[in-house]
Amino acid sequence: MTGMKEKKIRKIGVLTSGGDAPGMNAAIRAVVRTARYYDIDVVGIRKGYAGLIGGEIKEMYSKDVSNVMNLGGTILHTARCPEMMTEEGLDKAAAIYKILGLDALVVIGGDGSYRGLAELSKRGVNGIGIPATIDLDMCGTEYTIGFDTAVNTGMDALNKLRDTSNSHERCSVVEVMGRDAGYIAVWCGMCGGAEEVMFPEEKEVIDSSKVIQQILENRSIGKRHNLIVVAEGVGGTQKLAKEIQEVTGIQTRATILGHLQRGGSPTATDRMHASMMGYYAVKAIMEGKQNVVMAYNSGKYEVLDLLESMEMKKTLDQEIYDVIKVLAI
Ligand code: ADP
Repeated sequence: MTGMKEKKIRKIGVLTSGGDAPGMNAAIRAVVRTARYYDIDVVGIRKGYAGLIGGEIKEMYSKDVSNVMNLGGTILHTARCPEMMTEEGLDKAAAIYKILGLDALVVIGGDGSYRGLAELSKRGVNGIGIPATIDLDMCGTEYTIGFDTAVNTGMDALNKLRDTSNSHERCSVVEVMGRDAGYIAVWCGMCGGAEEVMFPEEKEVIDSSKVIQQILENRSIGKRHNLIVVAEGVGGTQKLAKEIQEVTGIQTRATILGHLQRGGSPTATDRMHASMMGYYAVKAIMEGKQNVVMAYNSGKYEVLDLLESMEMKKTLDQEIYDVIKVLAI
């Protein structure tokens, strides 16, 4: 629960966990500098929960986060840690938290990282979450750090593919990341001017025959190239490209952007949210909040209860897709 406590906060830990996301460094920087500003000791934990269990810990000072806001990835490194799925691993992580004398553990990561934090909170850890994933697929918050950079990278790739598809009068099928969610796909589809977007949440399933029909219709009205976006959660990109080429005779190329979208210097939007959420995370700890997460909703930063936020629902606005179709004529 979001209980209050009187105790003076002396020392906190910070780690990045799960999939990396551009902007994580800006969040680390904000946590470290806000803590130091208020005379709170801060330790950085390397490689997520693996580094907590393995004791890969170092004191962090303001100068340790100089020149990092502009960098993609995470200076603390990240990892997936299967040991956290076991009682022994969780007990060990909680024990190390206590040995280190931490008053809170700030975890910058996605929903898997939050699940780990929820488990640790049952073992006496004060877990504070900062949402970071390029996929945007976290409940309780409209924004997750890394999304904007990933979408811009995807859009840039679409721009480039548009040039070459146009020159050769080809069809490009581009697979973007997003795990089981279509947020990156619909944003890339809209902002890159795609004709069709295939994403997991679609009301009405778009199969290959519908895509092919759309391509043929667009060619008949004079379009010389085609751009189709496929979400990672739908997959089958190579197969779809092959089928389009076989049925229509139009040269079709598949491009899977993959981890390209994880990297790169974070955009201003990601730096802003990461900086503000990192700051508010430390302020929440100082105010005595326990087991909470940072969120951004309706233009405001919020502090939500960790467990409650994990139960919330978030849905992709299907109207974006409807508009993409209107604008693709
Ligand atoms: P993300 O945080 O990007 O969603 P993952 O889903 O891989 O990434 O989760 C990151 C890490 O969080 C996992 O490697 C694991 O250590 C921990 N974790 C995930 N789910 C749980 C769980 N149910 N219980 C305990 N720890 C978990």
